[in-house]
Amino acid sequence: KLAIFGGNPIRSQDFPKRVTMGNEEKKAALRVLDSDILSGFLAAPGKHFNGGTEVVKFEELWKNFYGFKHSISVNSWTTGLQLAVGAIGIEPGDEVICPPYTMSASATAVILYGGIPVFADIDPCRFTIDPISIEKVITPRTKAIMVVHLFGYPAEMDAIMKIAKKHNIKVIEDAAQAPGVFYKGQPVGTIGDIGGFSLNFHKHIHTGEGGLVVTNDDNYALKCRLIRNHGENAVEAYKIEDISNTIGSNYRYCELLAAIASEQFKRLEKILERRTKLGNYLNHRLKNITGLTVPVIEENSTHAYYMYPIKFNEEFFGVSRNKFLQAVLAELPKPRSWDTTPLAEGYVKPIYLTPLYQKRIAIGKNGFPFNFNKGIKYNYQKGICPVVERLYEKELLISPLVKEDMSDNDIKDFADALEKVVINIKELKNDKSLFDDDIFDPVAAIETNVD
Ligand SMILES: *Cc1c(COP(=O)(O)O)cnc(C)c1O
Repeated sequence: KLAIFGGNPIRSQDFPKRVTMGNEEKKAALRVLDSDILSGFLAAPGKHFNGGTEVVKFEELWKNFYGFKHSISVNSWTTGLQLAVGAIGIEPGDEVICPPYTMSASATAVILYGGIPVFADIDPCRFTIDPISIEKVITPRTKAIMVVHLFGYPAEMDAIMKIAKKHNIKVIEDAAQAPGVFYKGQPVGTIGDIGGFSLNFHKHIHTGEGGLVVTNDDNYALKCRLIRNHGENAVEAYKIEDISNTIGSNYRYCELLAAIASEQFKRLEKILERRTKLGNYLNHRLKNITGLTVPVIEENSTHAYYMYPIKFNEEFFGVSRNKFLQAVLAELPKPRSWDTTPLAEGYVKPIYLTPLYQKRIAIGKNGFPFNFNKGIKYNYQKGICPVVERLYEKELLISPLVKEDMSDNDIKDFADALEKVVINIKELKNDKSLFDDDIFDPVAAIETNVD
């Protein structure tokens, strides 16, 4: 009998809490505090324009490990995205093709330079931007494609780069969820023109907040460094000819966080190895369950399992995703935090459905940049990306449980819970008491569960 109808649950013991900081990080932080130099930056040309010793050390470490030509640390990947968009020269009225299933920042970075996000649908199996859909929305104003390696699996870069070359457009890789991931043997981040990673609290490795931009292009790297640190003060001394998009802000990473980041980076490979093992186990356990679709990993490519995605077939089961989700959750311990939430539905609302795009109000009150190209009305109506909408409304389940802190037994309990609900799906089908179509809000659920 399913736990949701009073049966014994699969597990009641809490899943392990995520622990990320060790003695190495503590020592590194103390070293910086003892030095009394918490930032090495100065907003003036010269030795300190590109940061202090810890910042440079961290940038070198990541860059050399994966063979990127340049790496530029920043105080978040949200600001890193702004560096990338500015560096490749996005101007008011330029269109950038974005996926709608991503953290909002992937698209808003474009708007901050006056560019206009145009949305392409995603591939229903890998959840990343679909090359065929990209080609359908290319116009003479298209300047770039924003690629997001969603949930930690790389987008179809071969096809995307081919389209980009053909139309002479740039490619930005938002690899926030995919650090250290390989696509057909190549590390993501510099397969396109410029890319980067996030170091926020929820990512594979983190320093609370932080980010890193990577590129193999000298000129883009220089522009990034200018935007990061009040570039307007340095262009003269550095004899920059094209000063467009070089006005800067303060997007600098501090010494304390950079020192912690270097220690975090040393853990990345092990973290990915463990997640791969847990992910492979789940793939193996779930791949033969009709009605559930789990990731398929191509040869020479890797998955970082930022989230473990499962596609749920409502028609096949004759049960709503929401009912299925509630039944699985009832089999497992109540979440104490997002990281121990066994399963959630839908990921994020397709971003074109948020007020920013629905009202076309971003900078000022008059509709800039959406009204910049006279005579062109950008379409953000429901229905423009049916694959994403279907995933959001009916099909996608995600689990943040594929984490290095989980034991073999922990992940087995998760798989057992899914399997139990599938085997006893009839109980759910006959039920009239549960709601079908609420989008389950894990954050609200956690708030009611925390002691
Ligand atoms: C986390 C994330 C970001 C933003 O990174 P921050 O470091 O939090 O600013 C952008 N894009 C995607 C896909 C992300 O997952």
